Amino acid sequence: MASGLLNSHVKMTFQQTIKKQVAFEGIGLHSGRPTKIVISPAGPNAGVLFHVVGHTIAIPALSSSVVDSHYATTLGANGTRVQTVEHLMAAAAGLGIDNLDIKVDGAEVPAADGSAQPFVSLLRSAGRMTLGARRQPLVISRPIRVGTESRWLQVLPCDTFRISYTLDSTHPAVGTQVISCEPTEETFVGELAPARTYGFLKDVDELRRNGLAQGGSLDNAVVVGKRSVLNQLRYRDEFVRHKILDLIGDLALLGRPVQGHVIARNAGHALNFQLVTALEQAYGAPRRAASPARELIPRAADLTPAPGFAAL
Ligand SMILES: [Zn+2]
Repeated sequence: MASGLLNSHVKMTFQQTIKKQVAFEGIGLHSGRPTKIVISPAGPNAGVLFHVVGHTIAIPALSSSVVDSHYATTLGANGTRVQTVEHLMAAAAGLGIDNLDIKVDGAEVPAADGSAQPFVSLLRSAGRMTLGARRQPLVISRPIRVGTESRWLQVLPCDTFRISYTLDSTHPAVGTQVISCEPTEETFVGELAPARTYGFLKDVDELRRNGLAQGGSLDNAVVVGKRSVLNQLRYRDEFVRHKILDLIGDLALLGRPVQGHVIARNAGHALNFQLVTALEQAYGAPRRAASPARELIPRAADLTPAPGFAAL
């Protein structure tokens, strides 16, 4: 099997971070507001930490920080929130990057093109550095299942990290899509990261009434009309690929790679979060989850703009 990423993440012993600071800006998919992120290297066992500019409390990217999991994964601590972290989290997990410090000037991670590809490019442009601390994969030793008859997630013991996903939609443009894979860095980058989020045109009004999808457009989402897709698909089965991407991003909230076979049917962020919670109940949470409030004082001045970075 090719080395790299999710499976190397399970098998490679040592943690990684990036080599240098990188930045990205855009609008939030749900908030519709301008936002920017600056990602910096972080030390061993730091995990992924979000800092919202203007707030002193860091938000660890762990399940204990999840404050909302409907339509996107939102993390929060002490009244501070960061929305739509899943595609950035998926990119980090996909590249096997364990520790990052992410400053957010806004309330949401930028939507980018609706996929994880721009974050993969961003993180790769920062280079990678191996740290002196070992990873501690969560090794699944017995089956765990969450969900209902029609929507569920199950994890079985397996000697690698594998995902098998069935997306079964009554919409003719989606239909039934099935993928089973053992992601490597190469297949993650080439086959999963570019898959975009999607939404149904019929749901747009209600989403917007609920304050969601305010920034959604054909530039950052696949939009499914009455009978067909309104924009060009990147893959015939882009929908199930994106579902896997979201699942990888949400599983990263365990704070360690999983060694097991994750089987999914019609899941979503809320169910992904249920699985993460069930796994932590069964196997325990990472130790740093017990002290989530690391005091840090990010300031707007700490955000070093990249060339061409527009001032908000
Ligand atoms: Zn998504």
